[in-house]
Amino acid sequence: MRVRVLGCSGGCAPGKAPSCYLLDRGVAVDAGALATSLTIEEQRAVEHVFLTHAHWDHVRDLPISVINRTMETPTLQIYGLPDTVEDMRTHLMNDRVWFSAFDLPTPASPFIAATPMNAGETRECNGYRITGISMPHTVPAIGYLIDDGSDSVIISADTGGGGIFADLPQDISPLRAVFLETSFPNAMREFADLTGHLTAEMLGEEVACLPDEVEIIATHMKPGFEEQITAELMALGRTHLRAAKDGDVFEF
Ligand SMILES: [Zn+2]
Ligand SMILES: [Zn+2]
Repeated sequence: MRVRVLGCSGGCAPGKAPSCYLLDRGVAVDAGALATSLTIEEQRAVEHVFLTHAHWDHVRDLPISVINRTMETPTLQIYGLPDTVEDMRTHLMNDRVWFSAFDLPTPASPFIAATPMNAGETRECNGYRITGISMPHTVPAIGYLIDDGSDSVIISADTGGGGIFADLPQDISPLRAVFLETSFPNAMREFADLTGHLTAEMLGEEVACLPDEVEIIATHMKPGFEEQITAELMALGRTHLRAAKDGDVFEF
């Protein structure tokens, strides 16, 4: 499986794009950089987007990517918790801040369509089995366990943690990697708790239940804190742990 990091920052600045991960086979997780990091042709080749939650940094490019499609481009299918897909319809593409791409150009063949899914549910999608994993955050959020039949990876949502990997499904291909946020350095623990995010130390606690050979890929660092957070992550002493950066391509 190949995971191309289009954006993995916890903020936004030149060279730091918000959350967006592109898999092979026209599937993406989150849409923070879905338009600004892909050519028009690449955007039109994306068929399915799994949203972790409704926060702006995870959906930012969704409206723009929709207008880069044509009448002939197949409907973009988005997935997410019922609250998340409803938020896209009522707060984002609601005919006020943006046109209603769920109903145009025709209700029968719109630019975008939504399929709600809950944690614990699995969707078959272009050869992947994609299962929602509950991720406590300040709004409803799920991460995704993606199984291509040979290997599995988890792309997490924003989360304050709390045993999120303690109860993973057993009938999956070997777990190779976990993408997990580390928004703040350890000294900002109080702010991390307040905003439903992890520090480096908290990431260590969440992944302690995973075998050491599983690669931990840290994401969503707040701009300006990357060096400090990375140093604190390295101090955890875990063998396979690294920080992601935009443009990285991981093969599993
Ligand atoms: Zn975020
Ligand atoms: Zn969030």
